Amino acid sequence: MRFLITGGAGFIGSHLAERLLSCGDEVLLMDDLSTGSMENIRHLKKFDRMHYFLDSIENRQLLAELVDEADVIFHLAAAVGVRLIVESPVRTIETNVNGTQLVLDAASKKRKLVFTASTSEVYGKNVQVPFREDADLVLGPTTKSRWSYAASKALDEFLSLSYWKEKKQPVVIGRLFNTVGPRQTGRYGMVMPNFVSQALDGAPITVYGTGQQSRCFCDVREAVEAILRLVSTTRAVGQVVNIGSDQEISMEGLARLVKERTGSSSPITYIPYDEAYEPGFEDMHRRVPSLEKLQDLTGFRPRATLPEIVDRVVAHFEKKRDLVGAVGASRQAASAGS
Ligand code: UDP
Repeated sequence: MRFLITGGAGFIGSHLAERLLSCGDEVLLMDDLSTGSMENIRHLKKFDRMHYFLDSIENRQLLAELVDEADVIFHLAAAVGVRLIVESPVRTIETNVNGTQLVLDAASKKRKLVFTASTSEVYGKNVQVPFREDADLVLGPTTKSRWSYAASKALDEFLSLSYWKEKKQPVVIGRLFNTVGPRQTGRYGMVMPNFVSQALDGAPITVYGTGQQSRCFCDVREAVEAILRLVSTTRAVGQVVNIGSDQEISMEGLARLVKERTGSSSPITYIPYDEAYEPGFEDMHRRVPSLEKLQDLTGFRPRATLPEIVDRVVAHFEKKRDLVGAVGASRQAASAGS
């Protein structure tokens, strides 16, 4: 089959592309490299079934052409990462809302199945964990820019569901919980790559707030498996489904685990939210998905353990370091010889 992935050079998009290509499928990948990077997909260039287009989904003509060629569309292009959202709220709202509208509009002309990537952020400050898909969304005030991300993604969900209801445009909406693995960058504030690179550098591990807030981390390969199963499940069409792991850990606990798995002597430091993000920043205390619906629809639930997940991220950073070290050494040798 032929799949279009918007945001295909991003962290999750590149893993999805890799999986599809390894199964013999053809991949059309669109990315404007705003947060994605060529580094994420360089290893996929060897497949002649992979075609990449470095352009924004705002290029309607190209989008229409690629939608026309594809059997299924994975819409992953979005502004993500708490740091980016706090620093660039205009970009977040415009990219997320306009982008989804353009994709749905193009897909609906050909009635191509669209997987819309949403986020667990939409549950906001709801305290009733585990979060079920039919739970209320409890967002903070519009004066706190963090909530613009949740609101923009909630609008993406409304749009997708409305296209299904009104135009019979098939959609599946996945609410992705914290997804981690190789190639995720810490540049936009994500905790796992931050902690691992700090631990490997021997730098202080920066826990924000009290560190008692918790998250559940899912290995990206398992998130990809869930996404692929959902798009091949007829009963999932028109549905919103949580995708993630339900093994909960506090950020203080994660800092300790990362220290232990890396054998690092980094100190653990606590940074107030105001300093880490912006004055008045609001965080979610707990975020745990109910995986009942995912399991009921697909028979699948992620199983990787947290130490396994951390070890994979550590191995990725170590490999990157070895490469950088090797380049540095060969440069030094070259300049010594010249
Ligand atoms: N966090 C942290 N240290 C960091 C980065 C993040 O303690 O260097 C915390 C952050 O405040 C949040 C949790 O880790 O409570 C997860 O943050 P992330 O940005 O990865 O994802 P979120 O779940 O907030 O979308």
